Amino acid sequence: MTPKPIDELEKCLARLPGFGRRSASRAALALVREPGRLLQPLAEALRVAAAEVRCCSSCGAFTTTDRDPCDLCSDATRDGGRVCVVEDPADIISIEASGAFRGRYHALGGKLAPARHVGPGRLRLAELQDRVVREGFSEVLLALSTDMDGDATAGYIAEMLKGTGAKVTRLAFGLPTDSGVAYSDPLTLKRAINGRQPLNLV
Ligand SMILES: [Zn+2]
Repeated sequence: MTPKPIDELEKCLARLPGFGRRSASRAALALVREPGRLLQPLAEALRVAAAEVRCCSSCGAFTTTDRDPCDLCSDATRDGGRVCVVEDPADIISIEASGAFRGRYHALGGKLAPARHVGPGRLRLAELQDRVVREGFSEVLLALSTDMDGDATAGYIAEMLKGTGAKVTRLAFGLPTDSGVAYSDPLTLKRAINGRQPLNLV
């Protein structure tokens, strides 16, 4: 029988992306075998992340409790006339890595998915509309996945922002359909950003 704490550790690890039951078990055993080198530093990193990581109250990017609004929001050297809309805060990290965008960001917290009962009220869409008006963005670049739900979300936003004067654009196609922004490599993202297409006419 595996001792209960190790069993619990395995169960937690198995819920992580990229881990199956076997790899979770292997990782858990490696951790308890080397507490000083592996287990305690991980426990400390988890404690700090749980205590300090949060999402920026303005854009939704990952930040820390002592930096809200985040650096992306408060950096005066960035282009305050453009905002890039993503589904997930992790997407922001990928787009930053591509170096092709130097404006502001807005993470929606997902995409519209009627089949799974994810309606507009579940996403940070009202906050986006507020920001477009308040911060006066001239361009709203949609970096959403290229599946049906991503298309529906893009259409909804283009409609929502009618009359704000903001030009709505979308990443050029060519991103993997089933994975989305976070798993695209920097070069693909850069091409998609540079080749962005207008969705509305101002
Ligand atoms: Zn922010």
